[in-house]
Amino acid sequence: MRPNSLHAADIAHFVHQQTDLADHGEHGAILMARGEGVRVWDTEGREYIEAMAGLWCASLGFSEKRLADAAYKQLLSLPYYHTFFQKGHEPAVRLAEKLAELAPNGLAHVMFQCSGSEANDAAIKVIWYYNNQLGRPAKKKLIGRIRGYHGNTIATASLSGQPHMQADFDLPYGDRFLHVSNPNYYRFAEDGETEEQFSARMAAELEALIEKEGADTIAAFFAEPVQGGGGAITPPRGYFEAIQAVLKKHDILMVADEVICGFGRTGNMWGCETYGIRPDILTCAKQLTAAYQPLSATLISGPIQAALVAGSKKHGSFGHGFTYGGHPVACAVGLETLAIYAERDMLGHVRSVSPVFLAGLEAFRDHPLVGDVRGVGLIAGVELMADKASRTPFPPSLKVGVLVQERCREAGLVVRAIGDRIAFTPPLIITEAEIAEMCRRFGEGLDAAWAEMGAEAAAAA
Ligand SMILES: *Cc1c(COP(=O)(O)O)cnc(C)c1O
Repeated sequence: MRPNSLHAADIAHFVHQQTDLADHGEHGAILMARGEGVRVWDTEGREYIEAMAGLWCASLGFSEKRLADAAYKQLLSLPYYHTFFQKGHEPAVRLAEKLAELAPNGLAHVMFQCSGSEANDAAIKVIWYYNNQLGRPAKKKLIGRIRGYHGNTIATASLSGQPHMQADFDLPYGDRFLHVSNPNYYRFAEDGETEEQFSARMAAELEALIEKEGADTIAAFFAEPVQGGGGAITPPRGYFEAIQAVLKKHDILMVADEVICGFGRTGNMWGCETYGIRPDILTCAKQLTAAYQPLSATLISGPIQAALVAGSKKHGSFGHGFTYGGHPVACAVGLETLAIYAERDMLGHVRSVSPVFLAGLEAFRDHPLVGDVRGVGLIAGVELMADKASRTPFPPSLKVGVLVQERCREAGLVVRAIGDRIAFTPPLIITEAEIAEMCRRFGEGLDAAWAEMGAEAAAAA
């Protein structure tokens, strides 16, 4: 690495996120320089198909000029205004109106923030506030799921079920965060258990936890329709139906974290539609602006909105808000993004290419490294397995997932290893030809990893 180079400056000064900082200090980072469609190029000129859409977000790819124009136009007219003290601006109002029109279950009131974490953090604050207005000060605990992901603020990292994001951060914080099992049917089903039976077992576990803690202490259940950061895990048949019956019985709010699934990822506008979820609160971000601007939204029900109004009568105002919440440039880009989705029939496109995407990955089931392939719309997880028949995973110390991820990268494909699950969430605009090329590169990466493991095993024997 040349001294004074970009890569040297990166090591010297830039603290990367969710990164092995020890390895980064030794090997440096891959720095991206430009993008076009579903492809990106790094500073060394290497080209990649971005099969993660960045972080499950760049739905319109990396060169949508209309979004750049929408941002520029807004920057010239009103580059900033806030939404405190009864102030506001047209882009925030129009986007809130649009989201209310699209929302499931009649959620008609919209709060804006800058990130998915803040959307969920705001949901948590609102839930606590709501139960205080209803005179239920003890009903405050929140239930998340193991491997669930809801963000990285103190509260949302506590709610997430990602132990490596809690270790040494003194999280989960306090005693309000509980977790139930990860509904990864392929990994955790008992022998002979059907998906429906597995779902019933998950619901029974939830109910047992609620009864142990006391329903009057439990405020809400948070779930992603498809677990993203947990490994692109689709729910087993009957899961949300069984879970929601338990929540309803015990008067517990359902929060749908649509930060990944929202805006077409599962082939419908919302994961809630794909899986029959009727949320009291919905959070979304990522594809809301196709990731061209940081923006998130928290959609709340009429009764929750009424509690916020009641609280204002008591305290003089709704004491919550962020300087950049509902930033006009981000909202203008969000409006343009939603207009593009509608004009180009993005849902229709996802539905038409999804079978090609899923079949392309399904074909790797026969690969010696692959145990399971599961997905919906344009999101899928490929689970690597040491022994397929007994569903025995590789020892984590082997880091097989990372090996596959790195060999894929060398083959010109960005995928993400989550443990030994390889996640795929390409930009929604991906074409059939690009899917074919994505699968070809994935095969090349898998084969290279497999050959390397075979060579190592032979050397060890
Ligand atoms: C990415 C993500 C978040 C957090 O969003 P940030 O914008 O990174 O704060 C929350 N929930 C889910 C499901 C996510 O995938």
